[in-house]
Amino acid sequence: MEKRNQLYSGKAKSVYTTDHPDYMIMEFRNDTSAFDGQKLAKLDRKGMVNNKFNAFIMQRLEEAGVPTHFVSLQNDTDSLVKCLKMIPLECVVRNVAAGSLTRRLGIKEGIDLNPPTFELFLKDDALHDPMVNEYHVRSFGWAEDAHVEKMKELTFKVNDVLKKLFDAAGMILVDYKLEFGLFKGEVVLGDEISPDGCRIWDKDTREKLDKDRFRQDLGNVIESYEMVGRRLGISFD
Ligand code: C5P
Repeated sequence: MEKRNQLYSGKAKSVYTTDHPDYMIMEFRNDTSAFDGQKLAKLDRKGMVNNKFNAFIMQRLEEAGVPTHFVSLQNDTDSLVKCLKMIPLECVVRNVAAGSLTRRLGIKEGIDLNPPTFELFLKDDALHDPMVNEYHVRSFGWAEDAHVEKMKELTFKVNDVLKKLFDAAGMILVDYKLEFGLFKGEVVLGDEISPDGCRIWDKDTREKLDKDRFRQDLGNVIESYEMVGRRLGISFD
């Protein structure tokens, strides 16, 4: 399907219309950002790596029965996706304590969370994506109750699939963020799943292999993303 007009350009991806109103093209750029856009950089190969990484993960999820917006890879940096009406919430699941959870609750990084936690954040950069609960969602009408229930159910289904996938490849899926939208009334997984929106550690050494390498200036950011992908069986050639 042909790429037409730019609909939207975010911090790392741009979205274009196609000749079909139900589909759009998502372009993964080399831009990367952290801390609500305060830290910015362009990382060579990042667009290609995240595009192929996301395609692989979305396909595994579809096979497991999770509806996603992913349709097909178009080229190295572009994917064809379904046009969703996005729900302005981020769903975060944590299997191991890290990041904002450790700061907010004074929990030591690395503690196993059993059962995993589920958190909702409002997608609003100007407010620094504040944490919200289901009552806020209901009072402010950000999503219908039934849609929140579905998001939660799908988020935990994603966890079952991805935890096993990473574990079998010698890695720990520490935490990740998902975004959902509606496609013809159905709750569907949108956005992307890549090392930009997940924490992934080596199972033996607990080395950080994800965007924390960029956030914490650990170096070899994209080399690490590629290594994670190759371990999962993704080819970046
Ligand atoms: O920062 P925090 O610990 O809350 O992040 C939890 C997980 O969600 C991390 O894997 C992080 O990369 C992801 N996340 C994201 N985009 C955001 C907020 C969090 O991808 N806006």
